[in-house]
Amino acid sequence: MSINKILNLFWATRCMGCKNTSSLNRYGFCRECEEQIIHIENYNNTETFHILRYDGPVKEAIHWLKYNRKKYYGKRFALLIHDFLINNSINNFNVIIPVPLYWTKEFFRGFNQCSIIAFYLSKLLKKQYLSGVLVKCKNTLSQTAMDKTGREKNVKGSFNVKKRHLIKNKKVLLIDDVYTSGATTQEAKKTLLENGAEKVIILTIAKV
Ligand SMILES: [Zn+2]
Repeated sequence: MSINKILNLFWATRCMGCKNTSSLNRYGFCRECEEQIIHIENYNNTETFHILRYDGPVKEAIHWLKYNRKKYYGKRFALLIHDFLINNSINNFNVIIPVPLYWTKEFFRGFNQCSIIAFYLSKLLKKQYLSGVLVKCKNTLSQTAMDKTGREKNVKGSFNVKKRHLIKNKKVLLIDDVYTSGATTQEAKKTLLENGAEKVIILTIAKV
């Protein structure tokens, strides 16, 4: 067994939020963290869904997935999304697509966290996972200090679709980790629709 696998087993028994070794729920959070997690009400939404508030243990877990290479957190988030979709009877889609990263960003991080989540979700739901179809063709600037208009301008034209026939007339479930202003995710959705997708449902784990 490799050292990485041993380390992963060690961390897998720990809470994704606080890293304590208390008993964990189905999604890898301890009871104390679970109590801090805020579930978002998706009133009247039919095409954009967010599951949790991006704060506390959720923020911590997403950060660890992205920057500390805790890829198996992606599996737990996939399970969280799976249960959310089942509980809310959201099933009107044929393909699952992750919001992509610009290639240099993915190269240096080593993976795209949304791809990991979307891949495991597709296994759980037995739906088609499409990788490399929606691509980020422009390396956009960090949006932290930008207002809504600035963000929209920044991401305009930053996505592209390859192998258009794969999404033609398809209903897409678009997976993103964090929803801030929505500029990036909405631009990705627009690109998919312009390239022949019939419908795009946005689902993010967390909303700021
Ligand atoms: Zn915890």
